[in-house]
Order: sequence, then structure tokens, then C-alpha cells
Amino acid sequence: MQEEKIVVIGSGPAGLTAALYAARAGLNPIVITGNAIGGQVAITYEVENYPGFPEGVSGPDLVESFRKQAERFGARVVQDVVTEVDFTHGSPFTVKTQQQTYLSQSVIIATGASPRRLGVPGEDAFIGRGVSYCATCDGFFFRGKDVVVVGGGDSALEEGIFLTRFADSVRIIHRRDELRAGQLLQDRAMRNEKISFVWDTVVDEIGGGNTVENVTLRNIKTGETQPLTTDGVFVFIGHLPNNSLFQGQIDMDNQGYIITDQHKQTNVTGIFAAGEIQDSIFRQVATSVGQGCSAGMAAIRWLEDQEED
Ligand code: NAP
Repeated sequence: MQEEKIVVIGSGPAGLTAALYAARAGLNPIVITGNAIGGQVAITYEVENYPGFPEGVSGPDLVESFRKQAERFGARVVQDVVTEVDFTHGSPFTVKTQQQTYLSQSVIIATGASPRRLGVPGEDAFIGRGVSYCATCDGFFFRGKDVVVVGGGDSALEEGIFLTRFADSVRIIHRRDELRAGQLLQDRAMRNEKISFVWDTVVDEIGGGNTVENVTLRNIKTGETQPLTTDGVFVFIGHLPNNSLFQGQIDMDNQGYIITDQHKQTNVTGIFAAGEIQDSIFRQVATSVGQGCSAGMAAIRWLEDQEED
């Protein structure tokens, strides 16, 4: 089996940036994409806050540019899914995918985060039949319909505003009476005539037949419950780190985010992490790109040090 210098697990902004730096250092990194290339930004309709694009850029276009740039310098982007890793014996590390097994002197973990679920009855059963975690992917199916959005952060408002392109009405259900989202998005949402807010309220149940037809809402101050007719439920209540491959092998904080030092080094020497798998705070394309750059550079230096020893 050929021994690789760097395997990057994950192909979002952090992974592809780490790969770009490793490729420019002549290390021909392997990037294992996961189920789809690009991570969360690949399903973002428009990115307005990534520097260098004054008019904004579509998420898929940005990912495509990241990929092309990394490949231009020799990164090998492989459409495959990692199923198992073994970091317990030190470098070289083993990374098993659905298609093959890699041995690599260093690994950069950039597996990102996934949408948090509500965990209420009906949610799982109606995924793809009215329950969604991605307005960009599914908004089109709700043309002329009424939908609810759950959450009060930037994602809920941004995606809620996007949904007004299609839906007749968007009700934003928030568990408090104050939004977490930034002021700019709050102002935009408040000005939008299709958007209304339901405060101090949670969704207790999602019901319907073939597709979603209603939700049960509960006011958390009064305890009162009431049914609401709706065609769709879009859930934007934060994210969970995609850490299942690494549990028991890499140190994580109490929320499951991988712990790294200033050099993006994990507790295992030669294993680095970047992007939302190790950042629960900023979670921006710009910060993930920066962290990917740091991890890539740190891995390059670590490999150089190994060769000198
Ligand atoms: P978030 O900021 O963590 O907000 C999650 C929202 O969901 C909060 O309002 C929270 O309520 C609510 N929530 C959490 N668990 C819940 C539950 N079980 N039931 C009901 N509601 C629940 O997540 P996010 O909106 O995905 O944003 C994540 C990060 O990405 C943030 O740093 C954000 O600034 C950034 N982001 C930025 C942009 C942008 O700049 N355009 C766009 C999207 C995301 P509480 O408020 O009561 O906690």
C-alpha cells in the first residue's frame, strides 16, 4: 500500500484550503469528500460575507473554485466516505473508506458539523416529505405553500427570508421572545411581509399523512398547546460536530468538538483539525478557510520536522 503524506477528511472550505496549501508544498494530498463535496456551504444559496466577492457568490460556485484551485496544484479529490480510522499506533495512520484503505503520515480532520434535529415525534418520519434542514435544497417544493421555520439564529432568519421566494407565508417559531440573529438579518426579516414570528414557542410534534400537514406548538411560558396547519417544517436550531469516526481516539470538549492547539494539532501528534469540527463559535466560511490554512501549514511543517529527525 502506498503511504500518503497527507490525507484530508472532508471537503468543505477548511478541508479544501488545507489541501490547497499541502498541494502547493508538493505533497499531493488526498481529499476524501464525504457524501458530497463542499459541506454546508455547497447547499448555501448565496454567501455574502466571504471577502473578495463584493456582490456575493453562490455556495456551489465557491466550492467549485476551492476544488479547482486545490486540484491545480496536485490535490487528489476523491469522492468517497471514510468508514473507520485508526490513530492508536501513531504515524502512519490508517484511514479506511468505502472503497479503499489509506496509510498516511499525517491526517487533517475537516468533517464539519451537521444540522441539529428537534427530536420530536414525526420529525424523522417526515424528512424529505415536508421536514427539511436546507431551504436552498428544498425551498422550491414549497411554491405557494405555508411553512414554518424553527429557530431564532442567523440561519433561521437567513433561510426564512430565502423561503419567501417560494412560500406564501413563513412563520418563524422561536423558543424565546428575543432573536439570537444579527441586527441586519433581523431588520430584513421584520420588513418582509411574508414573515411572521411566533414567540416563546416550541414544536412538540409534526403530523400529517403522506406529507407534513400540521405541527403542535407549545407556548413555553403558558404551557398552552395549539395545532397549526402547515405544509413544511424547516429546522435551523444549530449544529452538531461530525465526530463519530474519532470518538475514543481524539480528545473532544464536552460538546463533542475536537480540541486543537494554536497549530490546529489534536492530542495525537500528526493529526490536525480545522473548520467546524473544532469551532463551535465562529462557523463562517472565512474562519474555516483560515483554520484550514493553519492546519495545512502546520501539517507541512510537522512532516518537514519528521524528515529532519
Ligand atoms: P445558532 O446561532 O446556534 O442559533 C440556533 C437557534 O436555534 C437559537 O435561536 C436557539 O435558541 C434555537 N434552538 C436551539 N436548540 C433548540 C431547540 N431544541 N428547540 C428550539 N430552538 C432551538 O445557530 P445558527 O443560526 O445555525 O448559526 C450558527 C452560527 O453560524 C452562528 O455563529 C451564526 O452567526 C453563523 N451564521 C451566520 C450567518 C451569516 O452571517 N449570514 C448565516 C448563518 C449562520 P436560543 O436563541 O434560545 O438559544
